[in-house]
Amino acid sequence: MENKGLKIGVYDIFWLNGGSFKLDGGAMFGPVPKSIWAKRYPVDADNNILLTASPMLIKGPDSLILVESGIGNKLTEKQRKIFQIQQDWDVISDLEKLGIDRHDIDTVVLTHGDWDHAGGIVMISKSGKPELSFPRARHLFQRAEWEDVRQPCNRSSAAYWPINTDVLTASDQLVLVEEMATVAPGITLTLTGGHTRGHQAVFIESQGEQAVHLGDLFPTQAHLNPLWVMAYDNFPLEVIDRKKKLIHQAVHDQAWFLFYHNPFCDACKFGVDGKISASWQARADCA
Ligand SMILES: [Zn+2]
Repeated sequence: MENKGLKIGVYDIFWLNGGSFKLDGGAMFGPVPKSIWAKRYPVDADNNILLTASPMLIKGPDSLILVESGIGNKLTEKQRKIFQIQQDWDVISDLEKLGIDRHDIDTVVLTHGDWDHAGGIVMISKSGKPELSFPRARHLFQRAEWEDVRQPCNRSSAAYWPINTDVLTASDQLVLVEEMATVAPGITLTLTGGHTRGHQAVFIESQGEQAVHLGDLFPTQAHLNPLWVMAYDNFPLEVIDRKKKLIHQAVHDQAWFLFYHNPFCDACKFGVDGKISASWQARADCA
Protein backbone atom coordinates (compact mmCIF):
# COMPACT_ATOMS: atom_id res chain seq x y z
CA MET A 1 0.00 0.00 0.00
CA GLU A 2 1.50 3.28 -1.08
CA ASN A 3 1.50 6.15 1.36
CA LYS A 4 1.28 9.33 -0.69
CA GLY A 5 2.17 12.71 0.73
CA LEU A 6 -0.01 15.81 0.53
CA LYS A 7 2.18 18.65 -0.73
CA ILE A 8 2.00 22.03 0.98
CA GLY A 9 4.79 24.06 -0.65
CA VAL A 10 8.13 22.55 0.42
CA TYR A 11 6.46 20.15 2.88
CA ASP A 12 5.04 16.67 2.29
CA ILE A 13 2.48 15.46 4.82
CA PHE A 14 2.03 11.73 5.43
CA TRP A 15 -0.67 10.13 7.59
CA LEU A 16 0.53 7.23 9.78
CA ASN A 17 -1.36 4.42 11.48
CA GLY A 18 -1.52 5.42 15.12
CA GLY A 19 -4.35 2.94 15.83
CA SER A 20 -8.12 3.06 15.52
CA PHE A 21 -10.91 2.58 18.02
CA LYS A 22 -14.62 3.07 18.62
CA LEU A 23 -16.35 5.60 20.84
CA ASP A 24 -19.96 6.34 21.66
CA GLY A 25 -21.27 8.44 18.76
CA GLY A 26 -23.35 10.63 21.03
CA ALA A 27 -20.28 11.63 23.06
CA MET A 28 -18.44 12.67 19.87
CA PHE A 29 -21.32 14.90 18.77
CA GLY A 30 -22.29 16.38 22.17
CA PRO A 31 -25.53 18.37 21.91
CA VAL A 32 -26.39 17.29 18.35
CA PRO A 33 -29.32 14.82 18.13
CA LYS A 34 -28.43 11.42 16.69
CA SER A 35 -31.10 11.79 13.99
CA ILE A 36 -29.00 14.65 12.59
CA TRP A 37 -25.37 13.57 13.14
CA ALA A 38 -26.04 10.01 11.96
CA LYS A 39 -26.74 11.41 8.49
CA ARG A 40 -23.19 12.77 8.42
CA TYR A 41 -21.21 9.97 10.08
CA PRO A 42 -21.61 6.16 9.96
CA VAL A 43 -22.79 4.57 13.22
CA ASP A 44 -23.06 0.89 14.21
CA ALA A 45 -25.96 -0.92 15.92
CA ASP A 46 -24.45 -0.23 19.37
CA ASN A 47 -24.30 3.51 18.68
CA ASN A 48 -20.51 3.43 18.30
CA ILE A 49 -18.50 5.20 15.63
CA LEU A 50 -15.08 4.36 14.18
CA LEU A 51 -12.26 6.84 14.73
CA THR A 52 -8.64 6.73 13.68
CA ALA A 53 -5.70 8.20 15.57
CA SER A 54 -3.53 9.30 12.65
CA PRO A 55 -0.29 11.13 13.43
CA MET A 56 1.03 13.23 10.58
CA LEU A 57 4.63 13.28 9.46
CA ILE A 58 5.58 16.67 8.05
CA LYS A 59 8.68 16.14 5.95
CA GLY A 60 10.53 19.30 5.03
CA PRO A 61 13.93 20.17 3.56
CA ASP A 62 15.52 20.29 7.01
CA SER A 63 12.95 18.79 9.34
CA LEU A 64 11.01 15.65 10.22
CA ILE A 65 8.10 16.72 12.38
CA LEU A 66 5.46 14.44 13.85
CA VAL A 67 2.10 15.96 14.81
CA GLU A 68 0.50 13.75 17.47
CA SER A 69 1.69 10.25 18.25
CA GLY A 70 -1.27 7.84 18.17
CA ILE A 71 -2.58 5.52 20.88
CA GLY A 72 0.76 3.77 21.52
CA ASN A 73 1.37 0.14 22.47
CA LYS A 74 0.81 0.29 26.25
CA LEU A 75 -2.94 -0.27 26.57
CA THR A 76 -4.04 -2.96 29.00
CA GLU A 77 -6.48 -5.68 27.91
CA LYS A 78 -9.20 -3.87 29.83
CA GLN A 79 -8.48 -0.57 28.05
CA ARG A 80 -8.40 -2.35 24.68
CA LYS A 81 -11.90 -3.64 25.41
CA ILE A 82 -13.25 -0.30 26.65
CA PHE A 83 -12.00 1.54 23.57
CA GLN A 84 -12.78 -1.35 21.19
CA ILE A 85 -9.36 -1.16 19.53
CA GLN A 86 -9.77 -1.95 15.83
CA GLN A 87 -6.22 -1.39 14.62
CA ASP A 88 -2.98 -1.49 16.61
CA TRP A 89 -0.47 1.36 16.74
CA ASP A 90 1.98 0.94 13.89
CA VAL A 91 3.71 4.31 13.59
CA ILE A 92 7.28 2.99 13.76
CA SER A 93 6.91 0.60 10.82
CA ASP A 94 4.88 3.15 8.85
CA LEU A 95 7.83 5.53 9.23
CA GLU A 96 10.25 2.79 8.18
CA LYS A 97 8.21 2.22 5.02
CA LEU A 98 8.88 5.87 4.24
CA GLY A 99 12.60 5.27 4.85
CA ILE A 100 12.62 7.05 8.21
CA ASP A 101 14.03 5.65 11.44
CA ARG A 102 12.28 6.73 14.67
CA HIS A 103 15.56 8.24 15.87
CA ASP A 104 15.47 10.67 12.91
CA ILE A 105 12.30 12.48 14.03
CA ASP A 106 13.47 15.88 15.29
CA THR A 107 10.20 17.32 16.61
CA VAL A 108 6.98 15.91 18.06
CA VAL A 109 4.06 18.32 18.44
CA LEU A 110 1.15 17.37 20.71
CA THR A 111 -2.07 19.34 20.30
CA HIS A 112 -2.92 18.13 23.82
CA GLY A 113 -2.18 15.31 26.25
CA ASP A 114 -5.18 12.97 25.91
CA TRP A 115 -4.29 9.26 25.70
CA ASP A 116 -5.34 8.94 22.06
CA HIS A 117 -2.96 11.76 21.02
CA ALA A 118 -0.01 11.37 23.41
CA GLY A 119 -0.09 7.58 23.92
CA GLY A 120 2.59 7.03 21.28
CA ILE A 121 5.30 9.28 22.69
CA VAL A 122 6.34 6.48 25.08
CA MET A 123 6.51 2.91 23.83
CA ILE A 124 7.25 -0.47 25.31
CA SER A 125 10.46 -1.49 23.60
CA LYS A 126 11.75 -5.00 22.91
CA SER A 127 13.28 -5.04 26.39
CA GLY A 128 9.79 -4.62 27.86
CA LYS A 129 10.56 -1.22 29.39
CA PRO A 130 8.86 2.09 28.54
CA GLU A 131 11.06 4.48 26.56
CA LEU A 132 10.64 7.54 24.35
CA SER A 133 9.46 6.42 20.92
CA PHE A 134 11.30 9.33 19.31
CA PRO A 135 14.25 9.77 21.66
CA ARG A 136 16.04 12.54 19.75
CA ALA A 137 12.95 14.69 19.20
CA ARG A 138 11.99 17.73 21.20
CA HIS A 139 8.38 17.29 22.35
CA LEU A 140 6.27 20.45 22.21
CA PHE A 141 3.33 20.94 24.56
CA GLN A 142 1.70 24.20 25.58
CA ARG A 143 2.75 25.06 29.12
CA ALA A 144 -0.90 25.18 30.30
CA GLU A 145 -1.50 21.72 28.85
CA TRP A 146 1.56 20.24 30.50
CA GLU A 147 0.54 21.67 33.89
CA ASP A 148 -2.83 19.93 33.57
CA VAL A 149 -1.32 16.70 32.24
CA ARG A 150 0.89 16.43 35.30
CA GLN A 151 -1.79 17.54 37.77
CA PRO A 152 -5.12 16.59 36.20
CA CYS A 153 -8.46 17.46 37.71
CA ASN A 154 -11.06 14.75 38.35
CA ARG A 155 -12.57 15.12 34.90
CA SER A 156 -9.41 15.11 32.80
CA SER A 157 -7.55 12.39 34.71
CA ALA A 158 -9.54 9.81 32.72
CA ALA A 159 -7.71 10.90 29.55
CA TYR A 160 -4.31 12.04 30.92
CA TRP A 161 -2.42 8.86 31.71
CA PRO A 162 0.88 9.25 33.64
CA ILE A 163 2.34 6.26 31.78
CA ASN A 164 2.25 8.42 28.63
CA THR A 165 4.28 11.28 30.08
CA ASP A 166 6.40 10.00 33.02
CA VAL A 167 9.35 9.08 30.77
CA LEU A 168 9.19 12.44 28.99
CA THR A 169 9.21 14.25 32.33
CA ALA A 170 12.45 12.49 33.24
CA SER A 171 14.08 13.29 29.88
CA ASP A 172 15.59 16.49 28.45
CA GLN A 173 13.24 16.44 25.48
CA LEU A 174 10.26 18.40 26.78
CA VAL A 175 9.79 21.93 25.42
CA LEU A 176 6.95 24.04 26.77
CA VAL A 177 5.36 26.56 24.43
CA GLU A 178 4.13 29.90 25.76
CA GLU A 179 1.05 30.41 23.57
CA MET A 180 2.85 30.67 20.19
CA ALA A 181 5.93 29.11 18.62
CA THR A 182 7.55 28.58 15.24
CA VAL A 183 8.58 24.98 14.70
CA ALA A 184 10.12 25.30 11.25
CA PRO A 185 9.85 27.93 8.48
CA GLY A 186 6.10 28.46 7.92
CA ILE A 187 5.01 26.00 10.63
CA THR A 188 3.56 27.61 13.74
CA LEU A 189 1.74 26.55 16.89
CA THR A 190 -0.97 28.58 18.61
CA LEU A 191 -2.74 28.05 21.90
CA THR A 192 -6.47 27.56 21.30
CA GLY A 193 -7.81 26.08 24.54
CA GLY A 194 -11.35 24.79 24.19
CA HIS A 195 -11.09 21.02 24.08
CA THR A 196 -8.60 21.22 26.92
CA ARG A 197 -7.22 24.34 28.65
CA GLY A 198 -3.86 24.06 26.87
CA HIS A 199 -4.95 22.65 23.50
CA GLN A 200 -2.96 23.99 20.53
CA ALA A 201 -3.37 24.08 16.75
CA VAL A 202 -0.76 23.74 13.99
CA PHE A 203 -0.61 26.06 10.97
CA ILE A 204 1.44 25.34 7.85
CA GLU A 205 2.14 27.91 5.16
CA SER A 206 4.60 27.40 2.35
CA GLN A 207 4.90 28.80 -1.17
CA GLY A 208 1.39 30.26 -1.07
CA GLU A 209 -0.28 27.04 0.13
CA GLN A 210 -1.79 26.53 3.56
CA ALA A 211 -2.95 23.75 5.87
CA VAL A 212 -4.36 23.77 9.40
CA HIS A 213 -4.48 21.01 12.00
CA LEU A 214 -7.10 22.01 14.55
CA GLY A 215 -6.69 18.85 16.62
CA ASP A 216 -9.81 17.97 18.59
CA LEU A 217 -11.49 21.31 17.85
CA PHE A 218 -12.28 19.76 14.46
CA PRO A 219 -11.94 15.96 14.80
CA THR A 220 -13.76 14.86 11.63
CA GLN A 221 -15.18 16.57 8.55
CA ALA A 222 -18.65 16.13 10.08
CA HIS A 223 -17.77 18.64 12.82
CA LEU A 224 -17.65 21.68 10.50
CA ASN A 225 -20.53 23.49 12.22
CA PRO A 226 -18.97 25.44 15.13
CA LEU A 227 -21.90 24.41 17.36
CA TRP A 228 -21.13 20.70 16.87
CA VAL A 229 -18.91 20.27 19.90
CA MET A 230 -18.03 17.06 21.72
CA ALA A 231 -19.17 15.94 25.17
CA TYR A 232 -15.42 15.53 25.76
CA ASP A 233 -14.75 19.26 25.30
CA ASN A 234 -13.87 20.81 28.65
CA PHE A 235 -14.67 24.39 27.54
CA PRO A 236 -17.36 24.09 24.84
CA LEU A 237 -18.05 27.84 24.55
CA GLU A 238 -14.35 28.37 23.82
CA VAL A 239 -14.47 25.61 21.21
CA ILE A 240 -17.39 27.35 19.46
CA ASP A 241 -15.63 30.71 19.50
CA ARG A 242 -12.29 29.34 18.21
CA LYS A 243 -13.93 27.18 15.55
CA LYS A 244 -15.92 30.13 14.22
CA LYS A 245 -12.80 32.24 13.78
CA LEU A 246 -10.30 29.60 12.70
CA ILE A 247 -12.56 27.77 10.25
CA HIS A 248 -13.79 31.03 8.71
CA GLN A 249 -10.21 32.17 8.14
CA ALA A 250 -9.02 28.82 6.79
CA VAL A 251 -11.96 28.55 4.37
CA HIS A 252 -11.23 32.09 3.19
CA ASP A 253 -7.55 31.17 2.67
CA GLN A 254 -8.50 27.93 0.86
CA ALA A 255 -6.40 26.02 3.39
CA TRP A 256 -6.40 22.24 3.71
CA PHE A 257 -7.98 20.99 6.94
CA LEU A 258 -5.92 18.05 8.24
CA PHE A 259 -7.86 15.46 10.26
CA TYR A 260 -6.55 13.19 13.00
CA HIS A 261 -9.64 11.13 13.84
CA ASN A 262 -11.27 10.79 10.47
CA PRO A 263 -11.16 7.33 8.82
CA PHE A 264 -13.04 8.55 5.74
CA CYS A 265 -11.07 11.60 4.74
CA ASP A 266 -7.54 12.60 5.76
CA ALA A 267 -7.78 16.18 4.60
CA CYS A 268 -10.20 18.43 2.77
CA LYS A 269 -10.96 21.97 1.72
CA PHE A 270 -14.35 23.61 2.15
CA GLY A 271 -16.05 26.21 -0.01
CA VAL A 272 -17.83 29.17 1.60
CA ASP A 273 -21.09 27.20 1.13
CA GLY A 274 -19.77 24.57 3.59
CA LYS A 275 -19.45 21.93 0.88
CA ILE A 276 -16.23 19.97 0.44
CA SER A 277 -14.39 21.45 -2.54
CA ALA A 278 -11.36 19.11 -2.48
CA SER A 279 -10.53 15.99 -0.49
CA TRP A 280 -7.47 13.87 0.16
CA GLN A 281 -7.18 10.22 1.16
CA ALA A 282 -3.53 9.52 1.62
CA ARG A 283 -3.70 5.77 2.05
CA ALA A 284 -5.10 3.50 -0.62
CA ASP A 285 -7.07 1.44 1.91
CA CYS A 286 -8.57 4.52 3.58
CA ALA A 287 -12.21 3.60 2.96
ZN1 LIG B 1 -8.82 12.99 20.29
